[in-house]
Amino acid sequence: MKECFIKQTVKITYYTSPLFNSYGVSHMFTTKHGGVSSGEFESLNFAVGAGEKRDTTENVIKNHAIAAGVFGLSENDICRSYQNHSVNVEVVGNEYKGTGVYKDPFPYGVDGLVTTEKNLILSIRTADCVPVLLYDFRNKISSAVHAGWRGTLGRITSNAIKKMKSLGAKTENIIAAIGPCVGVCCYEVGEEVFKLFIESDNDFNSCFINKDSKLFFDLTKANELILIKSSIKKENISSSSLCTYCNENDFFSHRRNGSNRGTMSAFIVNK
Ligand SMILES: [Zn+2]
Repeated sequence: MKECFIKQTVKITYYTSPLFNSYGVSHMFTTKHGGVSSGEFESLNFAVGAGEKRDTTENVIKNHAIAAGVFGLSENDICRSYQNHSVNVEVVGNEYKGTGVYKDPFPYGVDGLVTTEKNLILSIRTADCVPVLLYDFRNKISSAVHAGWRGTLGRITSNAIKKMKSLGAKTENIIAAIGPCVGVCCYEVGEEVFKLFIESDNDFNSCFINKDSKLFFDLTKANELILIKSSIKKENISSSSLCTYCNENDFFSHRRNGSNRGTMSAFIVNK
């Protein structure tokens, strides 16, 4: 389950899952490094931001172009989710190339994407939330999911698996990579979050830790639990133990820096 993700520098610096690499899946979880943005957004930033300080659209598009270049593709081959902590997952085809880059974004919340197309790069963005990549290695079906605590509670990862199955995927062929996110070391939550999860499924109890009378939530473990309950094999789940809050040198973190900060991206593409 927990694997030491591999840090690579090819134009940009990113992490990959050893399990996904063993299946030859083109994917990456980006870090802060290798882009053109400056200041709070230095340097590989994938969103203009929602705080007082904003990055330029031009920089954000350039960063997408640099990342797509690692796959030998262009920024026009990317389809971006439109995240609002929804549990919606959309199946996308080539007509969605460039969505959220040069084309308009989705007009409603789409926090997960699924495709069977080749050379269509799926992108979801995070800065503490959980990036989950899924891949059916026999049927070559890819998915990228953004799961914060709301998306996790709403089983968005399970929704993505259902969409993949509707396209012919089989759970025994699906591998999952859970990327860097805010770790249980740093993710303090209120009693109300605990209650919501326990009411939804008592098994989430194992995902909470009490430390100095504070409550900490293990988002990675919660998503592993959802994957296992969706019949994904344990050995087909690869989880990073990198915490975005702790590792300031490599990652942007909403909890650490608030709204005036950059955003990472997780990418997956069928080649
Ligand atoms: Zn931490």
